[in-house]
Amino acid sequence: MMNNRAEFPLSEIGRPPLEPAALSALLREALALRGLSPERAGPTDWYRAAGDALRRHLAPGWQRADAAPGKRVAYLSMEFLMGRMLGDLALNLSMTQALDAALGEFGVSLDTVTAQEPDAALGNGGLGRLAACFLDSLSTVNCPATGYGLRYEHGLFAQGWEAGRQTERPETWLDQPQPLMVEGRAAAVPVGFGGQVTERGGRRVWQPAERLIARAHDMPVAGWGGAWVNTLRLWEPRAVAGFDLPRFSAGDHVAASGGDSFARALGRVLYPDDTTQAGQELRLRQEYLLCAASLADILARVKAAGHAPLDMAALWAVQLNDTHPALAAPELVRLLVDGEGLSFDAAMEVTQQSLNYTNHTLMPEALESWSTWSMGRLLPRHMEIVEQIDDWHATRHPRRPASTALVAQDRVRMGNLAFVASGRVNGVSALHTGLMRRTVFADLDRLHPDRIVNQTNGITPRRWIASANPPLAALLTDALGDGWQSDLERLSGLEAHLDDAGFLDRIGAVKQTAKDRCAGWLAGQGLRVDPQAMFDVQVKRIHEYKRQLMNLLHAVALWQDLREGRGPDHPRVKVFGGKAAPGYAMAKSIIRLIHDVAQVVNADPLTRDRLQIVYPANYNVSMAEVLIPAADLSEQISTAGTEASGTGNMKFGLNGALTLGTLDGANVEMREHVGAENFFLFGMTAEEALARAAVPDHARSAIGQSAALRDVLQLIAEGRFSPDEPDRHHAIVDMMWNHDPYLCASDYESYATAQRQVEAAYADPARWRRMSALNTARLGYFSSDRTIRGYMAEIWGIAPNG
Ligand SMILES: *Cc1c(COP(=O)(O)O)cnc(C)c1O
Repeated sequence: MMNNRAEFPLSEIGRPPLEPAALSALLREALALRGLSPERAGPTDWYRAAGDALRRHLAPGWQRADAAPGKRVAYLSMEFLMGRMLGDLALNLSMTQALDAALGEFGVSLDTVTAQEPDAALGNGGLGRLAACFLDSLSTVNCPATGYGLRYEHGLFAQGWEAGRQTERPETWLDQPQPLMVEGRAAAVPVGFGGQVTERGGRRVWQPAERLIARAHDMPVAGWGGAWVNTLRLWEPRAVAGFDLPRFSAGDHVAASGGDSFARALGRVLYPDDTTQAGQELRLRQEYLLCAASLADILARVKAAGHAPLDMAALWAVQLNDTHPALAAPELVRLLVDGEGLSFDAAMEVTQQSLNYTNHTLMPEALESWSTWSMGRLLPRHMEIVEQIDDWHATRHPRRPASTALVAQDRVRMGNLAFVASGRVNGVSALHTGLMRRTVFADLDRLHPDRIVNQTNGITPRRWIASANPPLAALLTDALGDGWQSDLERLSGLEAHLDDAGFLDRIGAVKQTAKDRCAGWLAGQGLRVDPQAMFDVQVKRIHEYKRQLMNLLHAVALWQDLREGRGPDHPRVKVFGGKAAPGYAMAKSIIRLIHDVAQVVNADPLTRDRLQIVYPANYNVSMAEVLIPAADLSEQISTAGTEASGTGNMKFGLNGALTLGTLDGANVEMREHVGAENFFLFGMTAEEALARAAVPDHARSAIGQSAALRDVLQLIAEGRFSPDEPDRHHAIVDMMWNHDPYLCASDYESYATAQRQVEAAYADPARWRRMSALNTARLGYFSSDRTIRGYMAEIWGIAPNG
């Protein structure tokens, strides 16, 4: 259903950016409201004042976007990996310079002020960062939307090193004031757990045993130009009655706050892994909290606008980011049947027309399922409804294969639940969507042939180019004029400049500036690198399928080559970054090996001016903003068929890094856009990888055919990198010889060959610069604005606006 908001002209919403003088008045006022004067204000005070001033400025846009008529999007996600927000907000409001000038009047620099803000790390990696990029794009394309998530007290853990091992400290973003967060803009929502279901007057009645309330914390999300300001609404669980005063007065101080600590436990932590299923009841409670609070809020908004609950599907498109919010299906049915008196069939119709589901993984260990026992105990009414949905589906498809059942072997399959209850189901790259159709959802796809669609991921060019790489942004604006920031396909205009040697020199200078800055930042971490070296970067979560190990094995081989007088003349810095899930032993072993290899290689006087390996701790959005613009080479080397899309690959390519990658995820489409000659391809295809993994002894036979790999594994096995404990890396060596599930050995020679092609290309600076510029010029398609327009047209039925 299309609608249009012509009655709501955008020109009324946008506001011109403030002049520095007006902004400094707002800053003074913000300080004054806290009883401070500029003379007495410290960096944190200025950070709060700047946040308050920007919020004041965007207020009219926020008020009006909230009240805008027409269909809206609810983006439900357990993760939003936002990073810092102040600088990005100033940028989108076109007030970076004005803010810098206004602060300058008080002798304060914008950089100092933005550095006060902790990263909002409410996500693990790609899935959460996608949600953050989508919020920026939803506002930029003027699509009315609310992001719904949880306000975790501790985001993703802060990573540190201790003798080469990962340490995990709780992250404490809420210790800092949050000037961009506004509490209580919406009514708090009661949420129940446990208890029983009884029958009363022909109706099912759920009487939960425990209750808490979810309080809304809202963050404004201004799009490019600041014309449209959507909301990120994060729920905080709270005890209903606070605490038990009579009990407290009677001296039972701890038990008196029992309800409070139960509620707090729920909002305490983000689960630090999105690649395996966390079989924890607390996680199920968190997922339900998100769904229950968000849907109650949405239904309240439907009714407040004078509509019937039956109209919900015409007014809201609900997007489920992975299966984590799949309980939205039984919850919506419950609200409509038990609360509003609709029939089950009518409720199912509304549900299917409202919900849509994005799949992010095909890996069996990540596919969510919950035991019917846990779900039945914690959410008895929802368990009934899930079974009812399953029956409803079975009745409509009497010959459906067993694989399509929602409940099997005493478990609820959340992927099937999300699929069956949704109008559209999407994958996140062309390859991934194809594999979805052929593998996990093959049978459901046959029953519902039009349901699966593809929406290839994208990234926001505001944060990942304009804000992270100002010199590149200035060059783009010089060459193309303003406007590329919200119309990224304009980057193709760069191709007209590629025969201009002066332009390519500037491309080179922009990259060198970013590398100098990055080298300075690394030096601040105690890591010294040569800023003239090739920056070869692999930053992402540490996971076997992403194959950081293969990259490291190649680094060892390169070191050997250099020691023996072979290998490239040009120095190279290998940068690793990323966190391992705390319970993921093999990932932690790989981290330890990277450190051990780095220590030996970096200390070798024969090679240390030509090869360095660094691994700065605590990869997060802010670190990505420093590293990505500086990269010459982007390592996107996952086993084909394992990475659904990747979005790091897009950030790197747009910032002029060349990709060394497999035919996996969105790499496939990136290569089509940049042209095969500007992409370093290696490795098996997804089909070949599948076949290869089924060959008995594939690892052993591949190692047998690669002398270089054999030598590298031998060095590790004999303790060359861990002389104090020669056997330390035994588990990795053993895994490589005997299991190698992600085919590092089988792809190794192909990878090493591609690395030699990289060296040859890098030896010709003019050629490299041209290839680099072509990457920026040809990847405009990978803007998340394009992705969001795709969702609007093909999933949500929302017409473009403005
Ligand atoms: C983009 C991003 C990711 C995702 O990277 P991939 O290489 O696609 O896995 C993870 N973490 C952070 C901080 C990011 O910015």
